[in-house]
Amino acid sequence: MKHANVSIFVPHIGCPHACSFCDQKTITGTAAAPTAEDVRRACDIAVKSKKCNAENSEIAFFGGSFTAIEREYMVSLLTAALPYIEGGFFCGVRISTRPDCIDEEILSVLKKYRVTTIELGAQSMSDEVLLQNRRGHTAADVRTAAQKIQEAGFSLGLQMMTGLYGSTPDLDRKTAQAFISLHPDCVRIYPTVVLEHTALGALYKSGKYTPQTLREAVPLCAELLEMFSKNHIPVIRLGLHSVGNVEDGYLAGAYHPAFRELCEGEIYLRKMLSAFEDLPKSQAYTVEVPKKSLSKAKGQQKRNEKALRNIGIQCTIKGNEFLKDYEIHIKETEV
Ligand code: SF4
Repeated sequence: MKHANVSIFVPHIGCPHACSFCDQKTITGTAAAPTAEDVRRACDIAVKSKKCNAENSEIAFFGGSFTAIEREYMVSLLTAALPYIEGGFFCGVRISTRPDCIDEEILSVLKKYRVTTIELGAQSMSDEVLLQNRRGHTAADVRTAAQKIQEAGFSLGLQMMTGLYGSTPDLDRKTAQAFISLHPDCVRIYPTVVLEHTALGALYKSGKYTPQTLREAVPLCAELLEMFSKNHIPVIRLGLHSVGNVEDGYLAGAYHPAFRELCEGEIYLRKMLSAFEDLPKSQAYTVEVPKKSLSKAKGQQKRNEKALRNIGIQCTIKGNEFLKDYEIHIKETEV
C-alpha cells in the first residue's frame, strides 16, 4: 500500500531574499501562511486514512525557507506536528531551507522536534550564477551547511536548478558533480521556469535572458539523472510540480507536467541507439527493458519506437521484471 506523507506549504514568509526566479506565491499556489491548526488538520486526515506509518511517512514543510521563519511561529508548526510523530503515525519531519540559514543552534532545535531530513535549496554551485540570480549565498555556504547537517545526523537533500540566468549546461553539470561529492541522501532537479512577477521574468522580457527550452532541458537533465543514478543518489523530483498556478504565471522555460518521464525516455533512447550502433539493421530485435519502465522506454506517444524505426531498426520493446533501472537487453528475433 502506498504510504501517505503530509505536505504543508509555507510560502515566502520569513525569507528576506528575492531570488531572480522566485515568486513563492505562484509556486505554492497560496499566499496564506499555515497555522498550527492547519498542521493538525492535515495530520488528522492522513491518520484517518490509515496510510501513514512510522517507517516511512513524513510531515514535510516546503515552499519557503523554514529555518528563516520567525522562531515562535516555526516552533508552533513543529509543536503541532510532534504528537503525530511521538504517536507513531509518522517517522519524522522534513524541511527545506537556505544554506545560509543553518547553524548548530537551529539544528539542535530541529532535532528536538524530530526533524529528520533537511533539504537545502542550493540551486547552483557556481558563485557567479548564484550572484547573478540574487541568491545571497555562495557555494561555500552550501558546503558548510551540508557538512553541519550530516555531522548532526540528519539526512541531507540538495536541490539544483538548470538553465538559470548566467548558467550553461557545463556549469549545471559541474553543480551536479559538486553535489555528488557532498554525498547527499537525495537530490531534486528543477529546470528553470520563468514566472510573471519575477526578476527573471523582467530579464526575459527585455531580451537579456534566454531560458532553456524543453528540448534543451530534457537531454541535459537526462544526463544529470544518470550521473546521480550511477552514484546511487536518488533524484526524488525532476521538474516543477504541476500544482498551484504555475501554468497561469508561466512565461517561458522548460516546464512539462511529465518532465521526469521525458528525461527517463531520453535515457532509454540513448542506450538503445548506442547498443544498435554495432548491430546489423537487416535483423529484427527485441529490446528488453525493466518492466516498470516499459512506457518510458517506448517514449511519450511511442516517440522512441518511432525514432528507432526512422533509422531502419526493426524492434519490439518489451518489459522484463528482472532488469534494473536503465538496464536494457537486446536479442535477435526470428522474422
Ligand atoms: S530563498 Fe527561497 S523563498 Fe526566498 S526568495 Fe529565494 S527561492 Fe524564494
